[in-house]
Amino acid sequence: MKIALDYDDTFTLDRASWRKAVKALQMNPSTSVTFVTARMKRGDNEDIHQDANVMGIDIVFCNKKPKQECFKADVWIDDNPLAIPTPDAMRACLS
Ligand SMILES: [Mg+2]
Repeated sequence: MKIALDYDDTFTLDRASWRKAVKALQMNPSTSVTFVTARMKRGDNEDIHQDANVMGIDIVFCNKKPKQECFKADVWIDDNPLAIPTPDAMRACLS
């Protein structure tokens, strides 16, 4: 299972709790957790790099694009679900 975990206003709301949750999920070798952020790769990303390093997880920077365009997740955890779908996926949901 591939889990995409948003960073800003999701992980950052409660770092201690999310670290415990990620650690528990990492107990299953078939589960991976990745930070998938709308942030630009170029920028001040020291905080996300530091948190990712502590947990040993990867980061995907979507550079403000819909997150589905830059990562294929089985499960999305995000405070802003509208940041996830592509325009086509959004239209499909609305039709
Ligand atoms: Mg967010």
